[in-house]
Amino acid sequence: MQGAVKVVLLSHKNPDGDAVGSSLAMGHYLRSVGKDVTVIYPNAFPEFFAWMPGAGDVLFYESDRERAVAAVKDAELVFCLDFNTLSRIGLLGSCVADSSAPKVLVDHHPEPSADFALTISHTEACSTSELVYEAIVALSGTEGVSFEMAQCIYTGMMTDTGSFAYASARKEIYLIIAELLDKGIDKDWIFRKVFYNSSLSRMRLCGYVLYDKLKLYNRYNAALITLTHGELMRFYASKGDTEGLVNQPLQMKGVRFSCFLREEQPGKINVSLRSVDDFPCNAVAAEFFNGGGHKNASGGELYCSMDVAVEQFKKALQKYKSELAD
Ligand code: 5GP
Ligand code: MN
Repeated sequence: MQGAVKVVLLSHKNPDGDAVGSSLAMGHYLRSVGKDVTVIYPNAFPEFFAWMPGAGDVLFYESDRERAVAAVKDAELVFCLDFNTLSRIGLLGSCVADSSAPKVLVDHHPEPSADFALTISHTEACSTSELVYEAIVALSGTEGVSFEMAQCIYTGMMTDTGSFAYASARKEIYLIIAELLDKGIDKDWIFRKVFYNSSLSRMRLCGYVLYDKLKLYNRYNAALITLTHGELMRFYASKGDTEGLVNQPLQMKGVRFSCFLREEQPGKINVSLRSVDDFPCNAVAAEFFNGGGHKNASGGELYCSMDVAVEQFKKALQKYKSELAD
């Protein structure tokens, strides 16, 4: 692995701040030690990550299939960041499976698959970006962390913890943040770049969701938001405009489980689940929504109408009613 020069870094479909942050940070580090790096995602990230250093060089399999496949075929080493199994990267996954290059996993999701030559998997980490920071420091000391790497790492840690509101009680996180501040990052600027960057159409969409589309299932301490493809079109929703909506119902007294069903294409429903405390929404994702993820943040997908998807949500509530009830 050490002699490899051509390195491909991959992260998951619908890349979030940790997917982008961890892969770009690792990319900057590997370039700094002389590697020829290509970062590839299955599809594009939301516009509010475009400022991140290196974001402009990323290849997207969805829109640049030939170059992405050629880079994977050419790779001497492949890093998989922020996902636990090749099926999470769609069609790109089979291309990676066919490659004879050694694969390294760096991730914080439970149950990593056995696809990898080296697995760095820590579910206690707040983010994959935290693990990338630790890996860089282990290899090159804190001097190995550049300003660009620090910006990317902070973004991943911030977004995967809802700005350090959950999954962020370990003191190591704040020791790392202190180091990142020493590298010169402006944490308030990064916060604004990511979270205070909404369009008017997103604000209107949030208003519509809270006013008209949020349903409370009191007996189950649960809430549901649905948005059909038609509604997304009506509000001119673009990529990232629905980010964070699933967390909103958790602000309500008593709510412990939140589900957001988004019809991203007619007949294809993207599922986001959030929970608090011990309620395992990843078990619900695996059992009812063809997905998985973390205990308190998970997702999946369904190929059906919105009505059928809502029925599936209600079945999940029935099944888990004793765990959800007071
Ligand atoms: P989000 O709701 O933000 O899209 O995803 C939340 C969490 O669930 C992330 O950790 C993500 O990796 C995981 N997740 C989302 N969709 C899927 C899916 O289809 N399958 C699996 N295994 N995990 C998912
Ligand atoms: Mn993550």
